[in-house]
Amino acid sequence: PFGEAFKSQEPSGKRRKIAILTSGGDAPGMNAAVRAVVRTAIFRGCDAYAVHEGYQGLVDGGDMIRKMKWDSVQGYLTAGGTVIGTARCKAFRERPGRLKAAKNLVKEGIDALVVCGGDGSLTGADLFRAEWPSLLSELVSQGELTEQEAKDHAHLNIVGLVGSIDNDMSSTDITIGAVTCLHRICESIDSISSTASSHSRAFVVEVMGRHCGWLALMAGIATGADFIFIPERPPQGEDWRESMCQEIKRHRDLGKRKTIVIVCEGAIDSNLQPVTAKDMVDLLTERLHLDTRMTILGHVQRGGTPCAFDRNLATMQGVEAVNAVLDSRPDIPSPVIAMNENKITRVDLVEAVKLTGEVAKAIGRKDFQAAMDLRDPAFNHQYQQFLSSTLAGSDAKSAKPLRIGIINVGAPAGGMNAAVRAIVRYCINRGHTPLAILNGFPGLMASHVKELRWMDVDGWIARGGSELGTNRDQPSMDLGMISYQMQKHDIQSLILIGGFEAFTACLEMKNARKQYPAFCIPMVHIPATISNNVPGTDYSLGCDTSLNAIMEACDAIKQSATASRKRVFVVEVHGGKVGYLAAMSGLAAGATSIYTPEEGITLERLQKDVRHLCQRYAADAEGKSQGRVILRSEAASKTYTTDIVSAIIKEEGHQQFDSRTAILGHVQQGGAPSPMDRIRATRLALCSVDFVEERASKNINIGGIGPAVYVDSEDSIVVAGIQGNDVGFTPVEKLLQVTDMRNRKPTHSWWMDYKRTAHLLARRVDLL
Ligand code: ATP
Repeated sequence: PFGEAFKSQEPSGKRRKIAILTSGGDAPGMNAAVRAVVRTAIFRGCDAYAVHEGYQGLVDGGDMIRKMKWDSVQGYLTAGGTVIGTARCKAFRERPGRLKAAKNLVKEGIDALVVCGGDGSLTGADLFRAEWPSLLSELVSQGELTEQEAKDHAHLNIVGLVGSIDNDMSSTDITIGAVTCLHRICESIDSISSTASSHSRAFVVEVMGRHCGWLALMAGIATGADFIFIPERPPQGEDWRESMCQEIKRHRDLGKRKTIVIVCEGAIDSNLQPVTAKDMVDLLTERLHLDTRMTILGHVQRGGTPCAFDRNLATMQGVEAVNAVLDSRPDIPSPVIAMNENKITRVDLVEAVKLTGEVAKAIGRKDFQAAMDLRDPAFNHQYQQFLSSTLAGSDAKSAKPLRIGIINVGAPAGGMNAAVRAIVRYCINRGHTPLAILNGFPGLMASHVKELRWMDVDGWIARGGSELGTNRDQPSMDLGMISYQMQKHDIQSLILIGGFEAFTACLEMKNARKQYPAFCIPMVHIPATISNNVPGTDYSLGCDTSLNAIMEACDAIKQSATASRKRVFVVEVHGGKVGYLAAMSGLAAGATSIYTPEEGITLERLQKDVRHLCQRYAADAEGKSQGRVILRSEAASKTYTTDIVSAIIKEEGHQQFDSRTAILGHVQQGGAPSPMDRIRATRLALCSVDFVEERASKNINIGGIGPAVYVDSEDSIVVAGIQGNDVGFTPVEKLLQVTDMRNRKPTHSWWMDYKRTAHLLARRVDLL
């Protein structure tokens, strides 16, 4: 009943058989990958198999290789770890083990294998593929396989998915599971921070990462730790212990009541000797007499339900893995599915594994710069940013000290405070004066401006909302007064953190530059809105926090709906005229249907949805009906409101299913900002200070008459955006060409594929 899509695409009508296994250490998101591979394979007319217990299942065969149905992976999105099991398999490392594995696959008729694991698992997979022809001929000579069986499965197609919490694989910017692991670490360190502060204690926290410091570095940035130890960048200088103690003492002298040191489990010094958490506890206790405790986070880090990012990454990569299997030819090298520049890509598996090994080799020969360079492109830069945002006095002073205004505009969004904190600290390190403008533009009109010091922003990184106070009002309320106040406080650069209102505020001030010279200064808008509707950036601050808040709410709603049996929830989410939140949370939560403003809602679409629900509920096993959610952007349709959609579903469901609504409202702003939002905030903040410094150096006010900084070029009022791997600055004027001003959104929505995938995996062939 679900159309042609599920029929075999092979001319012979024979269905291809694709298996997936998870191997090595478990990683959150592996289940989402299995779900995506199984469902995409079935959708594309193939048979899907799950190999249980990693390579051990391949070696053992029999019941360990199981055919999967569409509904076999129901509930996989929310599950942590890997449902199909993983193992470290010794037998597969030896040829006799691989011989058994090859026989088991051929006997099942499987010659395409998707392996989700770390670099060890992928090395094993590649070796298996390389040996495949010789394994088959050996099996034929032993009489274990017939000539025909060997001929029918002459090539083994391997596709890799990187499931690893360490983010230690080269050639991809991020691996499945790493971001969830970072969530667990940050939640733990946030909790530790409050007790540390209460007792004025020091804590040394050990985090995972045998050869890779990504988790420690990102956790250091996201929690504002005092010090981190990572393998790629051992502490510098012979007397590093003394320097570290001095730095920690300096922070204490500034008024800090807590000290957090993060040690990656593979941390070393420059002589390759381990740096352990215990050593650091002894050091802080003996030299600084701090009441120091140690916390080894251990396996807590691996656990729990995956965050939205990992669910979506694993899902998109799982879909791509099946596409890669179907595109494969014997002459194309095995690919591993990666993420580069915010896009799902295929890279050469052998090359990726080789490059990954290079990092360990570089560390082994003490070439730490090479080790840093071999990590993802942002790694080096982010290490520097960690220092700038956390260590007082870590940067050289700027040649031209500036008075830099900081203002929040629009609704609160996770990461706003983290951005202010990073700007303030970096400003102080560079010799600038950070001036906080309280309560948005009305606050500026009322002259609510104050200088912030290092300790004023302590702890802000983990706080939600807006500590400065934020407001939607625009400068056009009274441009004259705003200009006057900017002059009065001698604001020489302005950083605006906010949503679309901050963008329009920049436009207003740019257009008024001729009348008001006070606006002829560098201005940067850091996008911060849960709606992710600011042009010039892939992500705005707050949208990741919001996505996780919505996803968690949907998980709970779905659980309730499943418990009540046969209930469909229509969940209304924010997002203005942009369907980003609905699409991305719909993918992460496994929504049955997603309504966005871009597409709107039609009667025909509602009919399709009702028809689909009738089919699905009819197909559910007796007494085992699933709860289902439909996500609806608040602005998807003026007529078909959330209540009306739900009423229609209820009416048409008759006795078969029921419907309720859930309007999430301001819960969507989330509590504490997510690690991703904190890291993005820090990155955008520091780059923005560099930007205003650079633009202010182009001061054209020669002669010293009038304001100290006077720049009026088009490229001095910009949006700071996350663009792939980079931070880019695009003039607001230029962004007008790619902005739909009436609907307050960019003209291009890069995330549309995510929505299509959500529908595909919900079996909505009728919507594709
Ligand atoms: P993690 O990042 O969690 O360590 P990993 O995939 O690197 O994951 P490993 O223990 O190195 O974990 O590998 C998992 C399994 O992959 C091994 O138990 C083994 O079965 C197989 N494997 C690893 N390396 C090889 C190899 N060189 N040859 C054959 N099989 C291998």
